[in-house]
Amino acid sequence: MRLVLVGPPGAGKGTQAQFIAEQRAIPKISTGDIFRANVTQGTELGLAAKAYMDAGDLVPDQVTVEMVRARLAEPDAAKGFLLDGFPRNVPQAVMLDEILRDIGSDPIDVVLELVVDDDEVVLRLSGRRTCRTCNHVWHVDYDPPTIEDICDRDGGALYQRDDDREATIRHRLDVYAEQTAPLVGFYARRGALIGLDATGPVDDVTERALEALHRFRT
Ligand SMILES: [Zn+2]
Repeated sequence: MRLVLVGPPGAGKGTQAQFIAEQRAIPKISTGDIFRANVTQGTELGLAAKAYMDAGDLVPDQVTVEMVRARLAEPDAAKGFLLDGFPRNVPQAVMLDEILRDIGSDPIDVVLELVVDDDEVVLRLSGRRTCRTCNHVWHVDYDPPTIEDICDRDGGALYQRDDDREATIRHRLDVYAEQTAPLVGFYARRGALIGLDATGPVDDVTERALEALHRFRT
């Protein structure tokens, strides 16, 4: 099964990607992992990507696409894969179609969209508190330390990262919605989209995802 997973920040996408890929016995292919691997191995594409990142620029679609192409052509992806973090927009989705055609693969079977209410994401992320000493992440509601704002592990002071402030989170959610709505529409028109309620405990979400994929299979 060729799967794409999309979801807003704070939806637990990385965790779900891991579980679903394990359960379906397909490789999880994330752009983050591919970037790191290419940079570490010093491939031509990795060096190109690093040059953009070091300059504080976005890595151009073409560089990302070539990395994805090389990864999808590897033998372990022949029977299926789960893509996490790609495609991010419609032009990338069109390029993904071309890659799959070029390497003789069938098209994407399913796009699984993790759907979480914006307010729920804000609750999850804005409650996070990070230890200045060990960087452990606590949560004021879900995983509070014994003493407020003090790390249980080492007594370090806890603080709220800029990324976890409500205004920052809302902005990221807006950017996500703007980018993703057309992408989701693109796959919905093909009948390849499953929208999945991603609220509640992680295990429940995984179970719902696996059920939905099972039902989807014809
Ligand atoms: Zn600590």
